[in-house]
Amino acid sequence: MFLYNSTSHKKEEFKPKDSSIVKMYTCGPTVYHYAHIGNLRSYIMEDVLEKFLRYSGYNVKRVMNITDVGHLASDADTGEDKMLKGAKREHKSVMEIAQFYTTAFFEDCRKLSIKRPDVVEPATNCIGEYIGIITRLLEKGYAYQSGGNVYFDTSRLDKYYVFDNYSEDDLEVGVREGVEADENKRNKNDFVLWFTKSKFEDQALKWDSPWGVGYPGWHIECSGISLKHLGEDLDIHCGGIDNAFPHHTNEIAQSEAYLGHPWCGYWFHVHHLNTNTGKMSKSKGEFLTVSLLEEKGYDPLAYRLFCLQSHYRRGLVFTWENLDNAAGTYQKLIAKVAALDPDAPGDVDPSAYEPLDGKFRAALGNDLNTSLAVTSVYDVLKAKTNDKTKLALLNAFDRVLGLSLTEKAAEKRKENAKSATVGGFLIQGEDDPDVNQLILARQAAKKAKDFAEADRIRGELKDKGIELTDIPGGVQWRRV
Ligand code: AMP
Ligand code: ZN
Repeated sequence: MFLYNSTSHKKEEFKPKDSSIVKMYTCGPTVYHYAHIGNLRSYIMEDVLEKFLRYSGYNVKRVMNITDVGHLASDADTGEDKMLKGAKREHKSVMEIAQFYTTAFFEDCRKLSIKRPDVVEPATNCIGEYIGIITRLLEKGYAYQSGGNVYFDTSRLDKYYVFDNYSEDDLEVGVREGVEADENKRNKNDFVLWFTKSKFEDQALKWDSPWGVGYPGWHIECSGISLKHLGEDLDIHCGGIDNAFPHHTNEIAQSEAYLGHPWCGYWFHVHHLNTNTGKMSKSKGEFLTVSLLEEKGYDPLAYRLFCLQSHYRRGLVFTWENLDNAAGTYQKLIAKVAALDPDAPGDVDPSAYEPLDGKFRAALGNDLNTSLAVTSVYDVLKAKTNDKTKLALLNAFDRVLGLSLTEKAAEKRKENAKSATVGGFLIQGEDDPDVNQLILARQAAKKAKDFAEADRIRGELKDKGIELTDIPGGVQWRRV
């Protein structure tokens, strides 16, 4: 497959270092609040990437961190700790907040058909790993202690700035975000590896370290967790585009300084979900969640389809009208799939299957062109082949797209079967042939004016827990 690599700024043929396994790392959520649907756009697209790699025959090991410490309000290590902010807001402990919002995050993922990564690691589980890395960085002269904290020294690197989406001005994050510059830093891009109590007295979680009681910086957690579970060579590192700088730049700096060799082959960045007023973000206070979409009557998978309809390297504008369009498309697709007959005669026809599957693979193999992959679904529906072949293709595509089209279509078929007309007589209820037969026998008895028999059958059904209601032209039944 070809994948755009943010470090080389071009599409490259994807080749894992070890052909037997793809090592993939994803920056996980900071669990101080619900994930908003912008965050989830990133996780949906990363999920498609993982699933397509598996579809292409690769084994994948995917690791995700859960940020439950060290992520400050500004990514440049200034401001309040986000977890502390969440705990204060809800009068709970940091660990309670972390647990609650981690569960909520994976519940949202489940609703959006986002697979849980193979390894999910809370940042607070790996303090020993961070201390080990920081110790070696100090030994190698890539870090220094200042004002009670340990900083990474970016002036020691040959190359610090590697992604193309930020200008030099953006590098001065402290200035941009209106927060005071950290006087302890030797260079403006230096970042904190370890904070001690000298800086944040009210930090809830602290650990002993060679540099005093304190806590790790945010950037070190992803390097530490990746190195712990995936070893010295990483194939793909994912995240939202806002993570590119400074977070990922700093991850590269410290990991390569620590290892003494290149670290990650491909950087995959998902662009933002925006509203008409700009980027959707938690810090703005108002943001949309999966639960809110559900409250408004949307199927979360309609939002997944909405995301798949655009390319991950383009910003996506969220409006209710846009979501309505996706929801309409989703329902129409389900209806079309429901019209296929799973019991139709014939077998899967390879001469029809292979080229349609090939088109789907080619779309996703070209830098994950998900909107073209969705078009492949329509190609299948329109194709001149039998329903078995179409359903087999749709089931296969769904292993990547995750839209549950065939499952939802099966439900719809059941719904449709609920209302059947037998010999001009309407029966509304489940499609249960035994019950239908008794209902028709009762109807025949009524027609023959054998009311005793009709009542006997009603009684027999009642004993089975089935209640009948006569409706115009037929009968409605339900289990009670
Ligand atoms: P956070 O929980 O803030 O650490 O962010 C979780 C993930 O969501 C990160 O990969 C971010 O880069 C990503 N992200 C944040 N805001 C957006 C957005 N508006 N659209 C897409 N992804 C986002
Ligand atoms: Zn990260």
